[in-house]
Amino acid sequence: MQNQLTCEQVTALLSFYAEDKLSSKLTEYVRQHLESCPSCMEKYLQMKNMLNKFIDIQNEEIENPYATKQYEDFKANLSAYVDNELNNFESIKIKKIAISNPLARQDLENIYTFKKLLHSAFEKTKNDVKTDYSRNIIFQLKHDTIDDKKVDPFVKLSVAFFIMLTLLVAGLIRFLYF
Ligand SMILES: [Zn+2]
Repeated sequence: MQNQLTCEQVTALLSFYAEDKLSSKLTEYVRQHLESCPSCMEKYLQMKNMLNKFIDIQNEEIENPYATKQYEDFKANLSAYVDNELNNFESIKIKKIAISNPLARQDLENIYTFKKLLHSAFEKTKNDVKTDYSRNIIFQLKHDTIDDKKVDPFVKLSVAFFIMLTLLVAGLIRFLYF
């Protein structure tokens, strides 16, 4: 049986054909035309290819296999985990998710990179503060020595007390953050 479909008609039917939405009779007519017409076949293959890509993208968005409820829990607890605020059981759970789920692992790496940047910025500030402390103390000592005779003993005591307090606070900061 010879079908009468023209190239134009086949082109119009191609997307339906590619999605298998034609009647069995029409499907057969289109299939026969494609077999004997390289230019329509070419169009069909291009359309099929595009359709497959579109379906892939759709599937990726709709059902990313890693965007699970577990992953949502992971995200909710991530910063607490990084700050060591979780109990052992919870942090083991987070670790396991990070090992098995690439999305989670990526998030963890990102947050650690961010923390590192934050930490190095903090280190820099701390060093600046340290320099200022030493400079102040040296200045005060010099000042003390030069004006020794004129300085009121109470002021001297206050300065000594201030220096001790400064050292104590600096020590405390060291103790807390190192
Ligand atoms: Zn044709």
